Amino acid sequence: MFCLLCNSEEKLYDGLCKECFLKEFELVEVPEYATFTVCSHCGATLKHDKWVQTGYYDDEIINDAIQKDIEINPKLLNPVIETQITNNRGTVYDCILHVSGNIIGEPIEKKYPIEVKVEKGVCSDCSKFYSGYYEAVIQLRADDRKLEESEIEEADLFISNEIQRISKTNKLAYVTERIVLKEGIDYEVGSYNAAHKIAINMQKQFGGHITESRKIVGHDKSKSKDLYRSWLSVRLPSFHRNDFIEYDNKILEIKKIGSHKFVGRNIHTYEDESISWKEYDKIKKIATPNDIRQTTITNITPTDIQVLDPDNYDTVDLKKHESMERFNIGEEINVIKIKDRTYILI
Ligand SMILES: [Zn+2]
Ligand SMILES: [Zn+2]
Repeated sequence: MFCLLCNSEEKLYDGLCKECFLKEFELVEVPEYATFTVCSHCGATLKHDKWVQTGYYDDEIINDAIQKDIEINPKLLNPVIETQITNNRGTVYDCILHVSGNIIGEPIEKKYPIEVKVEKGVCSDCSKFYSGYYEAVIQLRADDRKLEESEIEEADLFISNEIQRISKTNKLAYVTERIVLKEGIDYEVGSYNAAHKIAINMQKQFGGHITESRKIVGHDKSKSKDLYRSWLSVRLPSFHRNDFIEYDNKILEIKKIGSHKFVGRNIHTYEDESISWKEYDKIKKIATPNDIRQTTITNITPTDIQVLDPDNYDTVDLKKHESMERFNIGEEINVIKIKDRTYILI
């Protein structure tokens, strides 16, 4: 028997001598070009039917694209493929594949040129964003009053910072629309999880309480589950710091607003009291710092302080608290009149 190519007379492999066989053997079948898809908005790449965020155009992505599109000769043992990018022209990469392995007991190595083309696509998250998709609405409201401009500005800034932070790990953390309504501001947020986190953090920052409701807005056939949209209403309290509220037959001046509680100073006993937001419904705002008046101390005894009623200049005797030792006769001090009773503010 002779080699079909060189007529040499020796052991044959598929009709060829060893030398001719190794020369003719193709380690891989390489298509004209390989492709990979990149989201033209965010640079995510499609990998095994899933969009993944990776470094843009890196060697690994090109390697993956090639591995997906070439076929290794099943006869090749221990195949190793290394990709070398030799040139980049816009969306085309010229690459050389260095393929090695073993065949008929001999090591073999060959180079194959291949083009890798970048195809532009839109990833699922970006297509949601561009179609205005949103899973939740944060509703900024205030109880029993209009939101103040400064509160809206603070909330806008707070939400935008939160979105920036959360969007590093959640691509649906975006605001599709901010809608000004007469009762407040609605922020449509792509991701429910992001909206929920933001609402909780807003409550921690601004106080008040959150209520949540949701509605079915569609059905995802591919996952056979209902699609929901949630409304997270962040209701700022009717009162601010330094306002006066009535609670449990006491009058408190609000000193601190926290996430779980707020602190009010009882303007009769001058003791601070923390109140849970759960008690919110039992609270009535009764005065603001605009209602504070100035008046003059007309007399001081060991137990009492006498001041002028700021409305009719009658003298009023009030109990002296230990913190009032520093007061002097003739001094101007702040008082507030609530339900015809005068209180000294300290
Ligand atoms: Zn031969
Ligand atoms: Zn994208």
